[in-house]
Amino acid sequence: MDRVVSLCKRRGFIFHSSEIYGGLSNTWDYGPYGVELKNNLKRSWWKSVVYERDDVFGMDAAILMHPKVWEASGHVENFFDLKSDCKSCKKRFKVADLKGSKKCPECGGELTEGRPFNLMFKTYQGVIEEAASAIYLRPETAQGMFVNFQNILDSKHPKLPFGLAQIGKAFRNEITPGNFTFRTREFEQMEIEYFVRPEEADKKLEEWIGARFNWYLKLGVRKDNLRLRPHGKDELAHYAKACTDIEYNFPFGWSELEGIANRTDFDLKQHSKTSGQDLQYFDNVKKERFYPYIIEPSGGVDRTILALLVDAYNEEKVKDDLRVVLKLHKDLAPVKAAVLPLLRNRPEIVELAKKIARDLKKNMVTVYDDTGAIGKLYRRQDEVGTLYCVTVDVQSLEDKQVTARHRDTMQQERVPIDNLKNYLEEKLA
Ligand code: ATP
Repeated sequence: MDRVVSLCKRRGFIFHSSEIYGGLSNTWDYGPYGVELKNNLKRSWWKSVVYERDDVFGMDAAILMHPKVWEASGHVENFFDLKSDCKSCKKRFKVADLKGSKKCPECGGELTEGRPFNLMFKTYQGVIEEAASAIYLRPETAQGMFVNFQNILDSKHPKLPFGLAQIGKAFRNEITPGNFTFRTREFEQMEIEYFVRPEEADKKLEEWIGARFNWYLKLGVRKDNLRLRPHGKDELAHYAKACTDIEYNFPFGWSELEGIANRTDFDLKQHSKTSGQDLQYFDNVKKERFYPYIIEPSGGVDRTILALLVDAYNEEKVKDDLRVVLKLHKDLAPVKAAVLPLLRNRPEIVELAKKIARDLKKNMVTVYDDTGAIGKLYRRQDEVGTLYCVTVDVQSLEDKQVTARHRDTMQQERVPIDNLKNYLEEKLA
Protein backbone atom coordinates (compact mmCIF):
# COMPACT_ATOMS: atom_id res chain seq x y z
CA MET A 1 0.00 0.00 0.00
CA ASP A 2 2.79 2.44 0.92
CA ARG A 3 4.45 1.85 -2.43
CA VAL A 4 1.23 2.54 -4.32
CA VAL A 5 0.63 5.73 -2.32
CA SER A 6 4.19 6.84 -3.00
CA LEU A 7 3.92 6.11 -6.73
CA CYS A 8 0.65 8.05 -6.86
CA LYS A 9 2.34 11.14 -5.49
CA ARG A 10 5.66 10.73 -7.34
CA ARG A 11 4.04 10.33 -10.73
CA GLY A 12 1.08 12.67 -10.42
CA PHE A 13 -1.89 10.38 -9.85
CA ILE A 14 -3.11 11.46 -6.42
CA PHE A 15 -1.98 14.25 -4.09
CA HIS A 16 -2.92 15.10 -0.53
CA SER A 17 -5.42 17.94 -0.66
CA SER A 18 -4.19 21.40 0.45
CA GLU A 19 -0.78 19.91 1.13
CA ILE A 20 1.02 23.26 1.36
CA TYR A 21 -1.16 24.00 4.42
CA GLY A 22 -0.35 20.69 6.03
CA GLY A 23 -3.11 18.87 4.16
CA LEU A 24 -6.78 18.35 4.90
CA SER A 25 -6.99 14.92 6.46
CA ASN A 26 -8.41 12.13 4.31
CA THR A 27 -9.00 14.41 1.35
CA TRP A 28 -7.27 13.75 -1.94
CA ASP A 29 -6.77 15.53 -5.26
CA TYR A 30 -6.32 13.74 -8.57
CA GLY A 31 -3.34 14.92 -10.63
CA PRO A 32 -2.74 14.75 -14.39
CA TYR A 33 -2.61 10.93 -14.62
CA GLY A 34 -5.16 10.37 -11.86
CA VAL A 35 -7.82 12.39 -13.64
CA GLU A 36 -7.21 10.47 -16.89
CA LEU A 37 -7.51 7.15 -15.08
CA LYS A 38 -10.66 8.34 -13.33
CA ASN A 39 -12.23 9.60 -16.57
CA ASN A 40 -11.38 6.33 -18.32
CA LEU A 41 -12.95 4.36 -15.49
CA LYS A 42 -16.14 6.41 -15.54
CA ARG A 43 -16.34 6.16 -19.33
CA SER A 44 -15.98 2.39 -19.16
CA TRP A 45 -18.76 2.14 -16.53
CA TRP A 46 -21.05 4.45 -18.52
CA LYS A 47 -20.43 2.47 -21.71
CA SER A 48 -21.24 -0.82 -20.03
CA VAL A 49 -24.36 0.28 -18.13
CA VAL A 50 -25.82 2.96 -20.45
CA TYR A 51 -24.54 2.67 -24.04
CA GLU A 52 -24.37 -1.11 -24.29
CA ARG A 53 -27.91 -1.60 -22.92
CA ASP A 54 -31.22 -0.28 -24.14
CA ASP A 55 -32.98 -0.24 -20.78
CA VAL A 56 -30.79 2.21 -18.78
CA PHE A 57 -30.73 6.00 -19.22
CA GLY A 58 -28.12 8.44 -17.95
CA MET A 59 -28.80 11.30 -15.53
CA ASP A 60 -26.91 14.05 -13.77
CA ALA A 61 -28.82 15.45 -10.80
CA ALA A 62 -27.76 18.34 -8.56
CA ILE A 63 -25.83 17.72 -5.35
CA LEU A 64 -28.13 20.05 -3.41
CA MET A 65 -31.69 18.81 -3.01
CA HIS A 66 -34.84 19.88 -1.21
CA PRO A 67 -34.40 19.11 2.53
CA LYS A 68 -37.63 17.08 2.49
CA VAL A 69 -35.85 14.52 0.29
CA TRP A 70 -33.70 13.45 3.24
CA GLU A 71 -36.67 13.26 5.57
CA ALA A 72 -38.54 11.07 3.11
CA SER A 73 -35.52 8.87 2.39
CA GLY A 74 -35.00 8.20 6.09
CA HIS A 75 -31.52 9.73 6.14
CA VAL A 76 -32.40 12.41 8.70
CA GLU A 77 -33.72 9.76 11.04
CA ASN A 78 -31.59 6.73 10.24
CA PHE A 79 -28.30 7.68 8.62
CA PHE A 80 -26.30 7.39 11.80
CA ASP A 81 -23.17 5.65 12.93
CA LEU A 82 -22.63 5.11 16.63
CA LYS A 83 -19.45 6.80 17.79
CA SER A 84 -17.51 6.32 20.95
CA ASP A 85 -14.75 8.57 22.32
CA CYS A 86 -11.73 7.56 24.35
CA LYS A 87 -11.73 9.43 27.67
CA SER A 88 -7.91 9.38 27.79
CA CYS A 89 -6.53 9.97 24.30
CA LYS A 90 -9.72 11.59 22.95
CA LYS A 91 -9.64 9.51 19.76
CA ARG A 92 -13.02 8.78 18.17
CA PHE A 93 -14.15 5.34 17.01
CA LYS A 94 -17.04 3.81 15.14
CA VAL A 95 -18.73 1.43 17.57
CA ALA A 96 -19.13 -1.17 14.78
CA ASP A 97 -15.31 -1.27 14.39
CA LEU A 98 -14.77 -1.97 18.11
CA LYS A 99 -16.35 -5.43 17.79
CA GLY A 100 -17.83 -5.34 21.31
CA SER A 101 -14.65 -4.12 23.05
CA LYS A 102 -15.10 -1.40 25.69
CA LYS A 103 -11.41 -0.38 25.66
CA CYS A 104 -9.69 2.14 23.37
CA PRO A 105 -7.83 0.20 20.65
CA GLU A 106 -5.10 2.89 20.63
CA CYS A 107 -4.29 3.43 24.33
CA GLY A 108 -6.48 0.98 26.25
CA GLY A 109 -8.36 3.87 27.90
CA GLU A 110 -12.02 3.91 28.87
CA LEU A 111 -14.54 4.61 26.11
CA THR A 112 -17.73 6.67 26.33
CA GLU A 113 -21.06 4.98 25.61
CA GLY A 114 -21.89 4.82 21.88
CA ARG A 115 -23.63 8.00 20.71
CA PRO A 116 -25.43 8.43 17.40
CA PHE A 117 -23.72 10.66 14.87
CA ASN A 118 -25.49 11.71 11.67
CA LEU A 119 -23.23 11.29 8.68
CA MET A 120 -24.81 13.99 6.52
CA PHE A 121 -23.01 17.29 5.92
CA LYS A 122 -25.30 20.15 6.79
CA THR A 123 -25.00 23.58 5.25
CA TYR A 124 -27.13 26.66 4.63
CA GLN A 125 -28.75 27.92 1.49
CA GLY A 126 -29.28 31.67 1.30
CA VAL A 127 -27.35 34.81 2.12
CA ILE A 128 -28.02 35.29 5.82
CA GLU A 129 -27.18 32.17 7.75
CA GLU A 130 -29.86 32.58 10.42
CA ALA A 131 -32.69 33.15 7.97
CA ALA A 132 -31.54 30.63 5.40
CA SER A 133 -32.80 27.08 5.30
CA ALA A 134 -30.59 24.22 6.32
CA ILE A 135 -29.81 21.83 3.51
CA TYR A 136 -27.54 18.80 3.11
CA LEU A 137 -24.83 17.75 0.72
CA ARG A 138 -26.21 14.50 -0.69
CA PRO A 139 -24.83 11.36 1.01
CA GLU A 140 -25.75 9.26 -2.06
CA THR A 141 -26.59 10.10 -5.67
CA ALA A 142 -29.56 7.71 -5.64
CA GLN A 143 -32.19 10.16 -4.41
CA GLY A 144 -31.64 12.41 -7.43
CA MET A 145 -32.89 9.53 -9.57
CA PHE A 146 -35.90 8.64 -7.40
CA VAL A 147 -37.23 12.19 -7.34
CA ASN A 148 -36.97 12.32 -11.15
CA PHE A 149 -38.83 9.03 -11.64
CA GLN A 150 -41.99 10.76 -12.88
CA ASN A 151 -40.01 13.07 -15.20
CA ILE A 152 -38.41 10.03 -16.82
CA LEU A 153 -41.79 8.29 -17.23
CA ASP A 154 -43.24 11.43 -18.81
CA SER A 155 -40.31 12.16 -21.13
CA LYS A 156 -38.99 8.72 -22.14
CA HIS A 157 -42.12 6.56 -21.62
CA PRO A 158 -40.05 3.51 -20.68
CA LYS A 159 -41.58 0.13 -19.88
CA LEU A 160 -40.45 -1.87 -16.85
CA PRO A 161 -37.82 -3.02 -16.25
CA PHE A 162 -35.69 0.06 -16.86
CA GLY A 163 -32.98 1.92 -15.02
CA LEU A 164 -31.27 5.24 -14.45
CA ALA A 165 -27.52 5.65 -14.11
CA GLN A 166 -25.57 8.46 -12.59
CA ILE A 167 -22.01 9.33 -11.60
CA GLY A 168 -21.46 12.08 -9.08
CA LYS A 169 -20.08 13.34 -5.83
CA ALA A 170 -21.48 12.27 -2.49
CA PHE A 171 -20.50 13.44 0.99
CA ARG A 172 -20.48 11.66 4.33
CA ASN A 173 -19.05 12.96 7.56
CA GLU A 174 -17.38 9.61 8.24
CA ILE A 175 -16.19 8.99 11.81
CA THR A 176 -13.21 6.92 10.78
CA PRO A 177 -12.07 7.77 7.28
CA GLY A 178 -8.77 6.34 6.06
CA ASN A 179 -6.84 3.85 3.99
CA PHE A 180 -5.94 6.43 1.35
CA THR A 181 -8.91 6.94 -1.00
CA PHE A 182 -10.88 3.98 0.40
CA ARG A 183 -12.95 5.93 2.90
CA THR A 184 -13.14 9.68 2.51
CA ARG A 185 -15.71 12.33 3.37
CA GLU A 186 -16.04 13.51 -0.20
CA PHE A 187 -16.18 10.80 -2.84
CA GLU A 188 -17.73 9.88 -6.14
CA GLN A 189 -20.34 7.21 -6.70
CA MET A 190 -21.45 5.33 -9.80
CA GLU A 191 -25.04 4.28 -9.17
CA ILE A 192 -27.80 2.53 -11.07
CA GLU A 193 -31.41 2.50 -9.93
CA TYR A 194 -33.15 -0.28 -11.83
CA PHE A 195 -36.97 -0.33 -11.57
CA VAL A 196 -38.64 -3.74 -11.78
CA ARG A 197 -41.94 -5.47 -11.10
CA PRO A 198 -41.83 -6.59 -7.42
CA GLU A 199 -42.10 -10.27 -8.34
CA GLU A 200 -39.03 -9.97 -10.58
CA ALA A 201 -36.83 -8.26 -7.99
CA ASP A 202 -35.00 -11.35 -6.70
CA LYS A 203 -34.12 -12.51 -10.21
CA LYS A 204 -32.98 -9.06 -11.33
CA LEU A 205 -30.86 -8.69 -8.20
CA GLU A 206 -28.99 -11.88 -9.14
CA GLU A 207 -28.58 -10.71 -12.75
CA TRP A 208 -27.09 -7.39 -11.66
CA ILE A 209 -24.73 -9.07 -9.19
CA GLY A 210 -23.40 -11.20 -12.06
CA ALA A 211 -23.17 -8.29 -14.51
CA ARG A 212 -21.35 -6.04 -12.09
CA PHE A 213 -18.90 -8.76 -10.96
CA ASN A 214 -18.04 -9.46 -14.59
CA TRP A 215 -17.40 -5.80 -15.27
CA TYR A 216 -14.52 -5.78 -12.78
CA LEU A 217 -13.11 -8.93 -14.38
CA LYS A 218 -13.38 -7.33 -17.82
CA LEU A 219 -11.32 -4.42 -16.54
CA GLY A 220 -8.58 -6.91 -15.76
CA VAL A 221 -8.99 -7.10 -11.98
CA ARG A 222 -7.59 -10.43 -10.81
CA LYS A 223 -10.35 -12.90 -10.03
CA ASP A 224 -8.57 -14.12 -6.87
CA ASN A 225 -8.85 -10.59 -5.50
CA LEU A 226 -12.62 -10.36 -5.93
CA ARG A 227 -15.43 -12.03 -4.04
CA LEU A 228 -19.14 -11.68 -3.35
CA ARG A 229 -20.42 -11.28 0.19
CA PRO A 230 -24.16 -11.37 0.89
CA HIS A 231 -25.19 -9.18 3.84
CA GLY A 232 -26.56 -10.68 7.01
CA LYS A 233 -30.02 -9.42 8.05
CA ASP A 234 -28.48 -7.30 10.84
CA GLU A 235 -26.23 -5.35 8.44
CA LEU A 236 -28.88 -4.24 5.96
CA ALA A 237 -29.50 -0.53 5.47
CA HIS A 238 -32.90 0.75 6.64
CA TYR A 239 -34.32 0.60 3.09
CA ALA A 240 -32.92 -2.74 1.92
CA LYS A 241 -34.39 -6.23 1.82
CA ALA A 242 -31.23 -7.89 0.53
CA CYS A 243 -27.74 -6.78 -0.45
CA THR A 244 -24.58 -8.39 -1.76
CA ASP A 245 -21.23 -6.64 -1.74
CA ILE A 246 -18.51 -7.07 -4.31
CA GLU A 247 -15.36 -7.05 -2.22
CA TYR A 248 -11.73 -6.55 -3.16
CA ASN A 249 -8.76 -8.00 -1.36
CA PHE A 250 -7.09 -4.70 -0.41
CA PRO A 251 -3.72 -4.67 1.38
CA PHE A 252 -5.75 -3.89 4.54
CA GLY A 253 -8.14 -6.81 4.02
CA TRP A 254 -11.29 -7.72 2.08
CA SER A 255 -13.47 -4.61 1.80
CA GLU A 256 -16.48 -3.38 -0.13
CA LEU A 257 -16.06 -2.02 -3.65
CA GLU A 258 -19.71 -1.98 -4.58
CA GLY A 259 -23.02 -2.95 -3.00
CA ILE A 260 -25.93 -4.37 -4.99
CA ALA A 261 -29.16 -3.97 -3.03
CA ASN A 262 -32.85 -4.66 -3.34
CA ARG A 263 -34.26 -1.35 -2.04
CA THR A 264 -37.84 -2.63 -2.51
CA ASP A 265 -40.53 0.05 -3.07
CA PHE A 266 -39.33 1.93 0.02
CA ASP A 267 -38.05 5.06 -1.75
CA LEU A 268 -40.88 5.60 -4.24
CA LYS A 269 -43.48 5.05 -1.52
CA GLN A 270 -41.75 7.42 0.87
CA HIS A 271 -41.43 10.15 -1.75
CA SER A 272 -45.07 9.70 -2.73
CA LYS A 273 -46.14 10.04 0.86
CA THR A 274 -43.94 13.05 1.65
CA SER A 275 -44.39 14.98 -1.60
CA GLY A 276 -48.05 14.16 -2.20
CA GLN A 277 -47.18 13.13 -5.80
CA ASP A 278 -48.22 9.63 -6.78
CA LEU A 279 -45.08 7.87 -8.01
CA GLN A 280 -46.75 4.61 -8.97
CA TYR A 281 -46.13 3.04 -12.35
CA PHE A 282 -49.06 2.25 -14.60
CA ASP A 283 -48.84 -0.95 -16.62
CA ASN A 284 -51.24 -0.27 -19.48
CA VAL A 285 -51.28 -3.87 -20.71
CA LYS A 286 -52.23 -5.37 -17.35
CA LYS A 287 -54.09 -2.18 -16.33
CA GLU A 288 -52.36 -2.14 -12.96
CA ARG A 289 -50.88 0.65 -10.84
CA PHE A 290 -48.11 -0.24 -8.43
CA TYR A 291 -44.81 0.86 -6.92
CA PRO A 292 -41.90 -0.79 -8.71
CA TYR A 293 -39.09 -2.35 -6.67
CA ILE A 294 -35.61 -0.97 -7.12
CA ILE A 295 -32.40 -2.88 -7.63
CA GLU A 296 -29.41 -0.69 -6.91
CA PRO A 297 -25.83 -1.46 -7.94
CA SER A 298 -23.86 1.28 -6.16
CA GLY A 299 -20.09 1.52 -6.53
CA GLY A 300 -17.42 4.03 -5.62
CA VAL A 301 -15.12 5.65 -8.16
CA ASP A 302 -12.34 6.34 -5.68
CA ARG A 303 -12.44 2.87 -4.16
CA THR A 304 -12.33 1.29 -7.58
CA ILE A 305 -9.37 3.48 -8.57
CA LEU A 306 -7.55 2.30 -5.46
CA ALA A 307 -8.33 -1.35 -6.23
CA LEU A 308 -7.20 -0.91 -9.84
CA LEU A 309 -3.91 0.70 -8.78
CA VAL A 310 -3.17 -1.98 -6.19
CA ASP A 311 -4.11 -4.73 -8.62
CA ALA A 312 -2.03 -3.31 -11.47
CA TYR A 313 1.08 -2.52 -9.42
CA ASN A 314 3.93 -4.87 -10.33
CA GLU A 315 7.58 -5.00 -9.43
CA GLU A 316 9.70 -7.05 -11.80
CA LYS A 317 13.37 -7.89 -11.87
CA VAL A 318 14.83 -7.00 -15.26
CA LYS A 319 18.50 -7.97 -15.40
CA ASP A 320 19.81 -6.26 -12.25
CA ASP A 321 17.17 -3.60 -12.20
CA LEU A 322 13.82 -3.35 -10.49
CA ARG A 323 11.09 -2.41 -12.95
CA VAL A 324 7.92 -0.90 -11.46
CA VAL A 325 5.07 -1.18 -13.91
CA LEU A 326 1.38 -0.40 -13.67
CA LYS A 327 -0.31 -3.06 -15.77
CA LEU A 328 -3.59 -1.23 -16.15
CA HIS A 329 -6.14 -2.45 -18.69
CA LYS A 330 -5.63 -0.77 -22.06
CA ASP A 331 -8.93 1.13 -21.81
CA LEU A 332 -7.92 2.50 -18.41
CA ALA A 333 -4.25 3.37 -18.90
CA PRO A 334 -3.96 7.18 -18.66
CA VAL A 335 -1.47 7.40 -21.53
CA LYS A 336 -1.62 5.25 -24.63
CA ALA A 337 1.65 6.28 -26.29
CA ALA A 338 4.84 8.10 -25.33
CA VAL A 339 7.14 9.37 -28.04
CA LEU A 340 10.78 9.45 -26.97
CA PRO A 341 13.80 10.63 -28.99
CA LEU A 342 16.75 8.34 -28.47
CA LEU A 343 19.27 11.16 -28.85
CA ARG A 344 18.05 14.46 -27.51
CA ASN A 345 21.03 16.43 -28.75
CA ARG A 346 20.18 15.75 -32.41
CA PRO A 347 17.68 18.41 -33.54
CA GLU A 348 16.44 16.36 -36.57
CA ILE A 349 15.53 13.45 -34.28
CA VAL A 350 13.86 15.73 -31.73
CA GLU A 351 11.90 17.48 -34.49
CA LEU A 352 10.73 14.21 -35.99
CA ALA A 353 9.73 12.82 -32.58
CA LYS A 354 7.78 15.97 -31.74
CA LYS A 355 5.96 15.80 -35.07
CA ILE A 356 5.04 12.14 -34.52
CA ALA A 357 3.71 13.00 -31.05
CA ARG A 358 1.71 15.96 -32.40
CA ASP A 359 0.08 13.72 -35.01
CA LEU A 360 -0.71 10.91 -32.56
CA LYS A 361 -2.28 13.33 -30.07
CA LYS A 362 -5.19 13.83 -32.47
CA ASN A 363 -6.16 10.19 -32.01
CA MET A 364 -4.99 9.03 -28.59
CA VAL A 365 -3.55 10.37 -25.35
CA THR A 366 0.13 10.78 -26.18
CA VAL A 367 3.02 12.38 -24.36
CA TYR A 368 6.38 13.56 -25.62
CA ASP A 369 9.36 13.31 -23.30
CA ASP A 370 13.02 14.14 -23.91
CA THR A 371 14.10 15.00 -20.40
CA GLY A 372 16.35 12.02 -19.76
CA ALA A 373 18.24 9.06 -21.09
CA ILE A 374 16.09 6.36 -22.69
CA GLY A 375 16.30 3.96 -19.71
CA LYS A 376 14.96 6.63 -17.39
CA LEU A 377 12.21 7.61 -19.84
CA TYR A 378 11.06 3.98 -20.11
CA ARG A 379 10.99 3.62 -16.33
CA ARG A 380 8.88 6.73 -15.99
CA GLN A 381 6.35 5.54 -18.58
CA ASP A 382 6.18 2.04 -17.08
CA GLU A 383 5.32 3.56 -13.73
CA VAL A 384 2.32 5.40 -15.13
CA GLY A 385 1.25 2.39 -17.19
CA THR A 386 1.82 3.90 -20.66
CA LEU A 387 0.96 1.19 -23.16
CA TYR A 388 3.47 1.92 -25.93
CA CYS A 389 6.79 3.72 -25.96
CA VAL A 390 7.73 4.88 -29.43
CA THR A 391 11.40 5.67 -29.86
CA VAL A 392 12.84 7.72 -32.67
CA ASP A 393 16.50 7.05 -33.50
CA VAL A 394 19.11 7.95 -36.12
CA GLN A 395 17.91 5.20 -38.41
CA SER A 396 14.37 6.63 -38.28
CA LEU A 397 15.64 9.61 -40.28
CA GLU A 398 16.60 7.30 -43.11
CA ASP A 399 14.16 4.37 -43.08
CA LYS A 400 11.18 6.38 -41.77
CA GLN A 401 10.49 3.75 -39.13
CA VAL A 402 10.30 3.89 -35.34
CA THR A 403 10.48 1.31 -32.56
CA ALA A 404 7.30 0.53 -30.66
CA ARG A 405 7.81 -1.13 -27.27
CA HIS A 406 4.91 -2.82 -25.52
CA ARG A 407 4.58 -2.10 -21.79
CA ASP A 408 3.92 -5.63 -20.52
CA THR A 409 6.04 -7.82 -22.81
CA MET A 410 8.70 -5.15 -23.43
CA GLN A 411 8.88 -6.55 -26.94
CA GLN A 412 9.95 -4.12 -29.60
CA GLU A 413 8.84 -3.87 -33.18
CA ARG A 414 9.90 -1.60 -36.05
CA VAL A 415 6.89 0.21 -37.46
CA PRO A 416 6.77 2.56 -40.49
CA ILE A 417 5.91 6.08 -39.29
CA ASP A 418 3.13 6.28 -41.89
CA ASN A 419 1.52 3.24 -40.37
CA LEU A 420 2.11 4.05 -36.68
CA LYS A 421 -1.36 5.42 -35.95
CA ASN A 422 -3.08 2.37 -37.49
CA TYR A 423 -0.66 0.00 -35.75
CA LEU A 424 -1.36 1.50 -32.33
CA GLU A 425 -5.09 1.81 -32.90
CA GLU A 426 -5.27 -1.84 -33.81
CA LYS A 427 -3.39 -2.81 -30.65
CA LEU A 428 -5.58 -0.59 -28.49
CA ALA A 429 -8.90 -1.69 -30.00
P1 ATP B 1 -19.07 1.18 3.97
O1 ATP B 1 -19.77 0.04 4.64
O2 ATP B 1 -17.69 0.83 3.49
O3 ATP B 1 -19.14 2.48 4.73
P2 ATP B 1 -21.47 1.61 2.63
O4 ATP B 1 -22.06 0.24 2.66
O5 ATP B 1 -21.93 2.63 3.58
O6 ATP B 1 -19.88 1.48 2.65
P3 ATP B 1 -22.94 2.36 0.36
O7 ATP B 1 -23.84 3.26 1.10
O8 ATP B 1 -23.41 1.04 -0.11
O9 ATP B 1 -21.59 2.17 1.17
O10 ATP B 1 -22.32 3.20 -0.86
C1 ATP B 1 -22.08 2.63 -2.11
C2 ATP B 1 -20.61 2.73 -2.52
O11 ATP B 1 -20.14 4.05 -2.37
C3 ATP B 1 -19.68 1.88 -1.70
O12 ATP B 1 -19.65 0.56 -2.18
C4 ATP B 1 -18.36 2.57 -1.89
O13 ATP B 1 -17.73 2.14 -3.10
C5 ATP B 1 -18.76 4.01 -2.03
N1 ATP B 1 -18.54 4.70 -0.76
C6 ATP B 1 -19.39 4.76 0.29
N2 ATP B 1 -18.87 5.48 1.30
C7 ATP B 1 -17.64 5.88 0.87
C8 ATP B 1 -16.61 6.67 1.46
N3 ATP B 1 -16.74 7.21 2.67
N4 ATP B 1 -15.48 6.87 0.74
C9 ATP B 1 -15.33 6.36 -0.50
N5 ATP B 1 -16.29 5.63 -1.10
C10 ATP B 1 -17.43 5.38 -0.44
